[in-house]
Amino acid sequence: MSSDQAQESVVEERGLAPAGRGPGPGSRAAALHPQSGAVGAQAELAGVLSGQLPLFVYKFGGSSLAGADRILHAAALVRDARRQARLAVVVSAMRGVTDRLLSIAQSLVEGAFGLARAEAEFLLYLHNDALRELHLNSDEHAQVKRDLQSLGRDLLQDLPLQGKRKVDAALFDRLASFGERFSARLFAAALAKLGVPASRVVSSDFLLTSDEFRNAKPDIAQSKRNGREVLRPLLEAGIVPVVTGFIGAARDGRITTLGRNSSDYSGAIVAHVLDANELVIWTDVDGVYTANPGAAPDARLLSDVTYAQAYALAASGAKVLHAEVLPLAAKTRLVVWVRNTFKPHARGTRIGPERAAWSEAVAEGAA
Ligand code: ASP
Ligand code: MG
Repeated sequence: MSSDQAQESVVEERGLAPAGRGPGPGSRAAALHPQSGAVGAQAELAGVLSGQLPLFVYKFGGSSLAGADRILHAAALVRDARRQARLAVVVSAMRGVTDRLLSIAQSLVEGAFGLARAEAEFLLYLHNDALRELHLNSDEHAQVKRDLQSLGRDLLQDLPLQGKRKVDAALFDRLASFGERFSARLFAAALAKLGVPASRVVSSDFLLTSDEFRNAKPDIAQSKRNGREVLRPLLEAGIVPVVTGFIGAARDGRITTLGRNSSDYSGAIVAHVLDANELVIWTDVDGVYTANPGAAPDARLLSDVTYAQAYALAASGAKVLHAEVLPLAAKTRLVVWVRNTFKPHARGTRIGPERAAWSEAVAEGAA
């Protein structure tokens, strides 16, 4: 499917539910997932029965966060969804930022300290520029600016101009983690600007991992216990947690990362931590395709697939999701949606334990 790195969808939307086949108008689920129907309605019913709104985790990839306008657009999706659900957000770094942070680490390896420093200064500029473009009120702006400055100081501290420095995998992860730490701060500020109380949460506060730096394995059970304590009080206070994807911490507290493009996985972990009804992966393509639409012009967009079908697709080479998402989703029966941030009215793809009953008709209708 996706690529937050670059790839744009070249395939027309096909296989979408024709209007009228989905849930009845006026249903809260219908408003949330246009044309999506049964699943959202089930989540809604579960919420109503428990006296609570359903809980959704929205994960935004780097291309959905490339610049202030996109961040505000994504934040507006969260604001609008809050009419029908409780929300937690997981963010990637802004597009291109992780690559740049890793290239800073590489410059250190090569002893190019001045270059590393200049690259870091550029990243600080980039995030400050996004902050300016958010056009916050002056108090809020000053607060966020202080937070960005403090992150910037931490980053620069790892990049001394002189002296010896041990450049190991742990340092790569610590440097790489700054992208999500910056973007989570900006996203929380964008939500606040739209009137949504929000709080940035650095996932290394609860997501415990092995110490295999650059590809750490999460301890899901322990992270769930820790994560509930961190995230639940926020939700109960009506605050949207904005959680950093990608990063965790080893037992000794050092920052780790779950590997490249792993913030989908972080989204699934946060959904599991919170027993969320659904995870929505907001990306820059319309959903999951039968093949890579860039390479195969006849690739078809799928509206509704089971975990087993998604596995088969992934095995046949279609890029579906980060490899660890499906196993965790299948084990916890988490419904995962893949949707296009830039076409929020398109339905996207639903991946679940079974196909929604109505989808057979939809598939036939669209064939
Ligand atoms: N920012 C991280 C990366 O670029 C994680 C992600 O985007 O999923 O690898
Ligand atoms: Mg990504």
